[in-house]
Amino acid sequence: MSLCNEKGKWYIAVRGFRSQDMKRIAVYCGSCMGNRAEYRRAAEELGHLMVSRNIGLVYGGGSIGLMGAIAQTVLDDGGEAIGVIPRFLENEEIVHRHLTELHLVDTMHQRKMKMAELADGFIALPGGFGTLEEWFEMLTWAQIGHHRKPIALLNVSGYFDPLLEMIRRGCEECFIPSECHDMVIHDSDPSRLLDRMNSFRPVGPEKRNGLEKV
Ligand code: AMP
Repeated sequence: MSLCNEKGKWYIAVRGFRSQDMKRIAVYCGSCMGNRAEYRRAAEELGHLMVSRNIGLVYGGGSIGLMGAIAQTVLDDGGEAIGVIPRFLENEEIVHRHLTELHLVDTMHQRKMKMAELADGFIALPGGFGTLEEWFEMLTWAQIGHHRKPIALLNVSGYFDPLLEMIRRGCEECFIPSECHDMVIHDSDPSRLLDRMNSFRPVGPEKRNGLEKV
């Protein structure tokens, strides 16, 4: 165990911790397909892998874009797909009507909280502002100790290279603590990504003022 002081905060780096095998993962991804066939293929590959490893999908509940693609793959393979969607997006994102579970909520904040509660880890696939916003919120919650679940990027065709570069830059310029930088698990291969998430060792307070909320 080691202690370090970043920005006046004390963190405990816990060694030898192995996260429990994940039962469910929240996947954030685009509400459209993007312009490369690889994006859809990656969403489907991740869906197949999750079912083969007995990992349920938690996602935004829509039937469109990459999120629809991964949900349909999981369902076709006989897996669990849980959607969480705000009522006001039900039509816009064409809610998937054949999910294992569908949670209708009132606000975007409730959606993010519910998805975070249901999942044991978080992955972003390529997507736009919505994907980035939801994924970053999980990262910032981890940074302040609200949860200790693994957070990952499936870096399909280098889509997230500029984001990883930005995170490195933030670290170099002392805006992002190095242990928070290390929280971001990334890989271009979905199978390796899941393995790395399973062996993730959280760094940070085990519990802070009872704030381990999700
Ligand atoms: P996008 O990556 O922009 O295609 O959006 C992916 C998902 O993020 C969609 O289900 C959007 O409804 C959702 N989303 C968009 N903006 C927000 C936000 N501010 N908070 C939470 N979810 C959002």
